[in-house]
Amino acid sequence: MSTTCLFCRIAAGEIPAQKLYEDEDIVAFRDIKPEAPVHFLVIPRKHIPNLFELQIEEAALMGKLLFTAQELAISEGMGKKGGRFVFNCKTDGGQTVDHVHLHVLGGRELGWPPG
Ligand code: AMP
Ligand code: ZN
Repeated sequence: MSTTCLFCRIAAGEIPAQKLYEDEDIVAFRDIKPEAPVHFLVIPRKHIPNLFELQIEEAALMGKLLFTAQELAISEGMGKKGGRFVFNCKTDGGQTVDHVHLHVLGGRELGWPPG
């Protein structure tokens, strides 16, 4: 846990968030600035800065993260029409919080390509 990392602090309960789910490995919470009717973030509790820093030992953790995202997306009503699962990474990806997080967006038709 990094005491200066916003998402580590949300995972630890030090900063409030609208949590949808948490267990010993994973936390999911609604994005504070939603870009779609459904917009939540899924993070590992472990502080991994971004996907480029991912180690092979963390592959199962990220697999669990993806499956959790799928289950939550279904419970948020995205199962029929789908949506988008996005990892923004580093500068060109527009990443603003350096703790790996999966955006899950849905509830409307989303444009492509991104800006
Ligand atoms: P990214 O730009 O991919 O790094 O995404 C970071 C996301 O975190 C943005 O969509 C922000 O709106 C969201 N965010 C920032 N602070 C908070 C917070 N305190 N609670 C929930 N979401 C947040
Ligand atoms: Zn962190």
